[in-house]
Amino acid sequence: MIKKELIKKLRVEPGTKVRLKDYETGWAQTKNLKEAGKEQVKERSKEILTENQALLAEAQQVLYADDRYSLLIVLQAMDAAGKDGTIKHVMSGVNPQGCQVFAFKKPSAEDLDHNFLWRYMRCLPERGRIGIFNRSYYEDVLVVKVHPELLQRQLPDGKRGKSFWAARYDDINSFERHLVRNGTIILKFFLHVAKDEQKKRFLERLDRSEKNWKFSAADLAEREFWDDYQDAYENAITATSTDWAPWYIIPADDKWATRTLVADIVTRTLQGLDLEFPEVTDEQRQILAEARRKLESE
Ligand code: ATP
Ligand code: MG
Repeated sequence: MIKKELIKKLRVEPGTKVRLKDYETGWAQTKNLKEAGKEQVKERSKEILTENQALLAEAQQVLYADDRYSLLIVLQAMDAAGKDGTIKHVMSGVNPQGCQVFAFKKPSAEDLDHNFLWRYMRCLPERGRIGIFNRSYYEDVLVVKVHPELLQRQLPDGKRGKSFWAARYDDINSFERHLVRNGTIILKFFLHVAKDEQKKRFLERLDRSEKNWKFSAADLAEREFWDDYQDAYENAITATSTDWAPWYIIPADDKWATRTLVADIVTRTLQGLDLEFPEVTDEQRQILAEARRKLESE
């Protein structure tokens, strides 16, 4: 597992006023890591990821059998920060039956006819399962805040001042509190990528034919709003990192680091729950013994 000290550094304590510039996007997060050097850290990081994949698979089995909790993982990031790859690598050992991924794109006409949380509520993980939101209700205080004209369809007469967004953060906090009180564990990850690294990844999508399909001109258009997005993220994370649903700001310039960190936090969280395989009662034990007798006498 990764050192607790590092995980603590990435976790946004409730009440912290977040400035993203204070959070590193690179792998060298602590003095110890820096001294160890990139190659060694990368090597070890890959080993830890493999360990965690196995541990996570085990923990998920118990989560499923225990059937009291569910885990909701929220992934938010600028384009090309590595959400897809993170999901793929972190969840690679997990039984697909116990895990669901939902990617949220532009809302449909039906979505817009409801309150902003409606479409996300319908996709929440059932007890015993892990649900991953690739983008989430946070888009409604991110992309929508950067482009407030998007609200036109939802709230034609709505006010869009400070109090409007404060009310949305408040709604989100209450919503998450409701979920947590009902047995959902929530982990929120912001994959923090540098603007230069995004440029590099976009260029790669243009340069390499097998990556061309990933390039979207819309991503380039959103890049123009980089600073507005960083502001929106700072405000949202500041307002919604709570004891019951904390944010983690994950360095995302090195994909191996992102994956290892997310896997570690997810595994650690599941291991911290009081999960148990259901206890077999005396009555059930008798039924099992009876079944054995029957099979053996065939
Ligand atoms: P990838 O590009 O890796 O396929 P993605 O998550 O970027 O993944 P896209 O289809 O490229 O998927 O983009 C989805 C778009 O939908 C994003 O620009 C996002 O901001 C937008 N979106 C998501 N939720 C909302 C929302 N509630 N209101 C408006 N736009 C939204
Ligand atoms: Mg995209």
